Order: sequence, then structure tokens, then C-alpha cells
Amino acid sequence: MLEDLRVDYHVHSSESDGEAKPERIPELAGEAGLVAVTITDHLDPYAPGYEPTPGKFLDVPRLLSMLKWRDEWRSSHREHGVDLFVGIERGPLPVPLGGAAPDLVIASVHYLPADVRAVRGRFLDETYWHAYMKSVLDVARGPQVDVVGHMAGYLPINPMLLPGSTFEERREIEREIVRRYFTQDWYEKVFRLAAARGIACELHCPTRSPGPDMVRLGLDMGVKFSVGSDAHMASCIGEVGWAYDLLESLGADEADIWSPEPGS
Ligand SMILES: [Zn+2]
Ligand SMILES: [Zn+2]
Repeated sequence: MLEDLRVDYHVHSSESDGEAKPERIPELAGEAGLVAVTITDHLDPYAPGYEPTPGKFLDVPRLLSMLKWRDEWRSSHREHGVDLFVGIERGPLPVPLGGAAPDLVIASVHYLPADVRAVRGRFLDETYWHAYMKSVLDVARGPQVDVVGHMAGYLPINPMLLPGSTFEERREIEREIVRRYFTQDWYEKVFRLAAARGIACELHCPTRSPGPDMVRLGLDMGVKFSVGSDAHMASCIGEVGWAYDLLESLGADEADIWSPEPGS
């Protein structure tokens, strides 16, 4: 059963904007019944408001320390415990990594280039969303990507948001944008690139995206999916039930779920 092999490959620690300290995460993952977890902190010097400090963004020196800690953790937990991976979540552009080799890179289009204008309160902006869709395609065909992050969720709506919106209101806005602009033709283009290159598309649990029909299409096209809770709170690590229920209902098997190369 897929359920017995639950993984969560999208978790933020206090090295970026997550709650849990990295050292706590394998333990929390074990308690949540996971067999593997990846810590994927934000590392993106091009992001608006970038600050390379714990609580905000990871930087390369701290990524190198985390990779060293990961090696030590693996050698001292050889017998039991979950498989631990350390990756990063970058934005739309590849980032300088020095000599660091994270286990996986999630590439997520968190923002668009500054010349793509957004108007407050105006969510249904075809030009903006077409620029977004193009940026996702660029990510899928470009370098430094293992997982295309939340392609149909956590959309870059911040520049359009009015103050005081709730999580649920933002999700409803996203669903409307997805319905209007995200054509099957676009998903097919992303999936074709992903399948050809062996990169994964993310099943993003907090936004339950992509929707079942598009996941079905992706599976039929040979895409592997990566499962992520995108947990920022410690209590959300391992909240991946939506993805596993969906995969089971679509008859997916282990081979349809993406994984990084196993650690030594
Ligand atoms: Zn993200
Ligand atoms: Zn994230």
C-alpha cells in the first residue's frame, strides 16, 4: 500500500520561515508516520524582501552546514528513523549554490519579473496569468529543478491582494484563476517537459493542487509526482493525506511517486 510508504518532500524549518528547528524534523516526521522527509527551506536571493537570516531565508553557508548535519544524522540513525533529505525551495530563477549539492531543488514561481504589472484587487488579469504560465514552463525546461513546486496553488497573488484576506479567501481566488486561465494545453506542455526530463510535479497538499483530472492526465503522460505538505508549522509536517488518497483513487503505484536518490 502506498499509505505505508508516506513521504513529505516539502517542509520548511526555522532556517527559513518554518517553525521547527531542523534537528526536530526527522523526529516529527517519524511521529507523523512518514518513512522519509525533505527539509526544503527557501533559498532565493532574487526574492522580494530577501534577507539571508534564520526566520526568513536560507543562504549557502547555512545550507552547507545543514548538509553536513544531514550526513552526521544519517550515520548515527542508520538502523531506524526516517530517511532524511535536505533540499531547497528556490523561486523562478536558478540560484547560485557555490559547491552545495542539495538532495532536491523545488522550483516554484513565487513572483513574476518586475515588468509584469499587477493591480491591487484585480485578480483576473489575463496578461499576468499568461506570464505566470510561461514562467512555469521556463522552470520546467530550465536548469536546477527536480520538482516543479505548487504549479496550480500558492499562486503569486500577493501584489494583487487587498489587506485582510483569509487563507480560505485566497484559495478561492486561486481556484477561480485556475478555472479561467490554466488550460489543459498548458498542463500538457508542463507534463511533457517533466516526463521527458524525469523531473517531478508537486502534489501540493495545502492547496489540493493540481486537481484530480490534471493529475490523472499527468500520470497517463508518465509524470512522476512529488508529495509535499509545504509545512511551515511543526504540527503540519506529514499532512499529506490528500495526496495519498488521490493517488490511491487514481490507481497510482510506487513508481509514480518521485524520490531523490537514496542517501548513503
Ligand atoms: Zn513555495
Ligand atoms: Zn514552500
